[in-house]
Amino acid sequence: MERYSRQILFKKIGEAGQKEISKKHALILGIGALGTHTSETLARAGVKKLTIIDRDYVEMSNLQRQHLFTEEDAVKKWPKAEAAKKRLQQINSEVEIEAIVAQADGALLEGIIEDVDLLIDGTDNFETRFLLNDLAHKYHIPYIFGSCVGSFGMAFTIIPGETPCLQCLLKKLPLQGQTCDTVGIIAPTVQMVTAHQSVEALKVLSGNSEAVRKTFVSFDLWENEYVSLKAGALKDKACLSCGEERTYPFLQAESNTKVAVLCGRDTVQIRPAEGEPLLLEQLADRWRSAGYEVGGNAFLLSIVKEGTRIVFFKDGRALVHGTKNPDEARKIYHSLIG
Ligand SMILES: [Zn+2]
Repeated sequence: MERYSRQILFKKIGEAGQKEISKKHALILGIGALGTHTSETLARAGVKKLTIIDRDYVEMSNLQRQHLFTEEDAVKKWPKAEAAKKRLQQINSEVEIEAIVAQADGALLEGIIEDVDLLIDGTDNFETRFLLNDLAHKYHIPYIFGSCVGSFGMAFTIIPGETPCLQCLLKKLPLQGQTCDTVGIIAPTVQMVTAHQSVEALKVLSGNSEAVRKTFVSFDLWENEYVSLKAGALKDKACLSCGEERTYPFLQAESNTKVAVLCGRDTVQIRPAEGEPLLLEQLADRWRSAGYEVGGNAFLLSIVKEGTRIVFFKDGRALVHGTKNPDEARKIYHSLIG
């Protein structure tokens, strides 16, 4: 327990709280700016298990704010979940880390939710957040929302049955609009959001849920603005995710969008409906013999066609870079996969 001694000295956690933390399993969806910070804090804090899920791979433009990743990860295009796992195991080899390289959908999440104690938001889009929100309410698991763009950040802890959910909040608060694509982001914004997310995680995981923040917090670090909003009254009895006649609409959606323009980049993701795994080695051979230059690693293939870079993952997805046009992306995808 020596490695956790300073955390145990902190009276609100103590030995009892540490024992609780060491039995807990947190699921972090999205291992980008937010997820790399919260996963590092929880690995260092000594949780039993972390499940980390991400659909993307490491790029140079991530290194400015995404802890855990190195230049080598970016050069090798290592999937974020695998790169994070590698680093987290170096930090704390006692923590069990499950890395999943995939686009999270209802079926995937419901298949792994059984012993999860906490859901943490590391995503960059509201579609996936609504999925987490529904999952939290269906399985009665606390969900820590976080979001940041530019110098502006927000955080809120959702306790099913007590607080309003993300759907309730969205009807009253202007949460959407800007993306890191349009206004960029600075690292301290990430650190402030994840400080809020991580302390809430420590409260929940150490058995101190009564200490959870009851207000919705938002701030602008550059403008020195800090707002703490009472959110309890925003709970909507008719809400389909947390209300009296809930249907969990986002979990039911068969598989959400097949083609998505990704936040922060000129990139379109294509996910085939069948979700058949790709045989990367066979594809690489086929494309090489057709004259294409093919790169990649054990998890993905990278190919350039007519000046556009396309990256294929084992699970059948592809990222088409250099475009925001879904139709154009789909055309290039089908020209390579058939
Ligand atoms: Zn609700």
